[in-house]
Amino acid sequence: MHVLIVEDDSALGHFMDQGLKLDGHEVSVVTDGETALESAEKLPPELMILDLGLPRMDGIEVLREMQQRFRSTSVLVLTGRAGMEERVQCLELGADDVVLKPFSFHELRARLKSLYRRRSQFEDRVLRFGDLVMDRAERSVTQAGRGVELTATEFSLLESLMRRRGERICSRVELLHEVWRMPPSAAANRSESNIVEVYINYLRKKLGRDVPGAGHAQGRSTIRTVRGEGYLLDAEAERSTKAGVPGPASALDAAFALKRCAADA
Ligand code: CA
Repeated sequence: MHVLIVEDDSALGHFMDQGLKLDGHEVSVVTDGETALESAEKLPPELMILDLGLPRMDGIEVLREMQQRFRSTSVLVLTGRAGMEERVQCLELGADDVVLKPFSFHELRARLKSLYRRRSQFEDRVLRFGDLVMDRAERSVTQAGRGVELTATEFSLLESLMRRRGERICSRVELLHEVWRMPPSAAANRSESNIVEVYINYLRKKLGRDVPGAGHAQGRSTIRTVRGEGYLLDAEAERSTKAGVPGPASALDAAFALKRCAADA
């Protein structure tokens, strides 16, 4: 992969440069935001490793520019600022991952690997569930043929749910990991955080809006909360959208119970 490292701490920059070169990547290092954008202009890297605290132009500013002008570049943000708000802001601005300083090379390598996997998963470009269609390359979503405007975080949240096709419950820890890019151990510690619930509700509001044929004048949610376990796209909504009649909830519950037994076996 062609990697551009943007880091003003020269020791850290050198350390990543050496490690990534040994892993076979093509690496360049710059130490400020303006030079980073100039360099991307010459040749947009496949991956940018971007420190937030930078001279001349803040990392957040660079991220914003990258998202507007070089959308094909994946951006992994490095930050010493541990707050959840900062992490959310970076992801909203289109960062693909956020790594907290200090980190080990081992961790960086693992994150890059998962990022690379995601980049190469584009063959499964369109996801469908019920009346929802997601085009992952275009980053667009339609519901019953109408465009749904989603923020970057809402989009990846819906993507996580759609990838499970309503067949598997998505736990809060999984979502913190997949959407907010928290390492699994940190996600487990944050599982009481209500951020997932907050974003699920944003998404519900957008998905529930004026759905033709949904059977309810007020529109309805397509995301079901499974108490104590997580969330999944509602297969009930999928069925009633097609058939025009809501099916019995008990049949659904039985199906969940069955799946859970199968998973335990
Ligand atoms: Ca810095």
